[in-house]
Amino acid sequence: MTRVVTAKFGGWLIEADPGINREHYRMASPWECSCDHCVNWRSLGESALPPGVVEFLGAIGVDALKPHEVFEWGPEPPRSHLMGGWYHFSGRTCAGCRARGSDGT
Ligand SMILES: [Zn+2]
Repeated sequence: MTRVVTAKFGGWLIEADPGINREHYRMASPWECSCDHCVNWRSLGESALPPGVVEFLGAIGVDALKPHEVFEWGPEPPRSHLMGGWYHFSGRTCAGCRARGSDGT
């Protein structure tokens, strides 16, 4: 790692090197899967992700538009789809140090 940043995501603290992660995503193959899940996710762009996730991924150098995998649980009535996905990154979750807000949550 060359320049490590610490970023909070939900209740977790993540240490990562954004430069290494940006380089990984720059060199990664384009995301061209044509399955329904991927097509749906791509059509939504960054709006497929909950608020704050795009900013978090950007802070650790992950390209929000290049998930490693996406999937769908659903459909959920009445016309919605619960989707999920994951990303790879170089870094670590701080072992045993769930981040807590000042209110203890
Ligand atoms: Zn796919």
